[in-house]
Amino acid sequence: MEIIRSITEMREKSNHLKRNGQTIGFVPTMGYFHDGHLQLMEEALYADDYVVVSIFVNPLQFGPNEDYGQYPRDEKHDRERAENIGVHALFIPSVQAMYPTKTAITMTVGERTNVLCGTKRPGHFDGVVTVLTKLFNIVQPTHAFFGKKDAQQLAVVDLLMNDFNFPLQLVGVPTLREADGLAKSSRNIFLSAKERNEAVWISKALLSGQQLVVDGEKNAGSIVKEVTKIVDKHTSGYIDYVELLTYPDLQKTETIEGTVILAMAIQFEHARLIDNLIFNHTGNEPTYILT
Ligand code: AMP
Repeated sequence: MEIIRSITEMREKSNHLKRNGQTIGFVPTMGYFHDGHLQLMEEALYADDYVVVSIFVNPLQFGPNEDYGQYPRDEKHDRERAENIGVHALFIPSVQAMYPTKTAITMTVGERTNVLCGTKRPGHFDGVVTVLTKLFNIVQPTHAFFGKKDAQQLAVVDLLMNDFNFPLQLVGVPTLREADGLAKSSRNIFLSAKERNEAVWISKALLSGQQLVVDGEKNAGSIVKEVTKIVDKHTSGYIDYVELLTYPDLQKTETIEGTVILAMAIQFEHARLIDNLIFNHTGNEPTYILT
């Protein structure tokens, strides 16, 4: 496996691959790999000739009071895990290489951000689209793989593709969970033993909401109320939001029609966890969710 730190070297590598007619699968990450990341890499290895995984904790997408400094990092462990499954290259640029100066042009996301994490983390998605624009231009992938766990991110990146005509295809990958249902996340290590036990109620509550739809409930407010009641009863975390919206447009809706997302964010003492389920009016998950 190649370790590439220089932007020039990464671009030359991609140019060379493309000249030789090879497809490039790209998995952007912030590192500290867990099985969810590995699943994205497996999908990329299945779809493309050459797989590049980036590790970059992007300062631009963290707010001043967020966990940029504390975000877990372990390059040695990440190298071993990626190499073991056959990833071809890790692209690990420094902050200095990515942002040698403050960018003169700033990107602002104008849709799909006035809900969920967009309101709770102002500027977060502006930072995400900025770094992805840079990474896509450097890596020049054929496909880019994103987890549906960060469903709002996927919806926003979908807008980025459409607005700026990036010549690549987005692939949304299902959320990988622990045996008890907790969505895998690099931040789970920050949960205390008590919080870890409570955190199982995040997915349980979401599943209860989905079950209500399967049973015929069509009222979004009733579902949100029930899901909120369950997490509130079983966890000590602060409920940042529980929302039910259309997907991928992320519009408020009173009734369940078409594809919707039921999403929540819970702030525990040292970890803010997010999770969601995407389903249609019968409660089933649609196979294709992007516009
Ligand atoms: P991160 O390193 O947290 O920025 O995540 C990198 C990519 O992995 C993003 O596209 C995430 O949506 C995806 N991801 C994170 N956790 C999971 C999971 N449990 N299942 C599937 N994908 C995930």
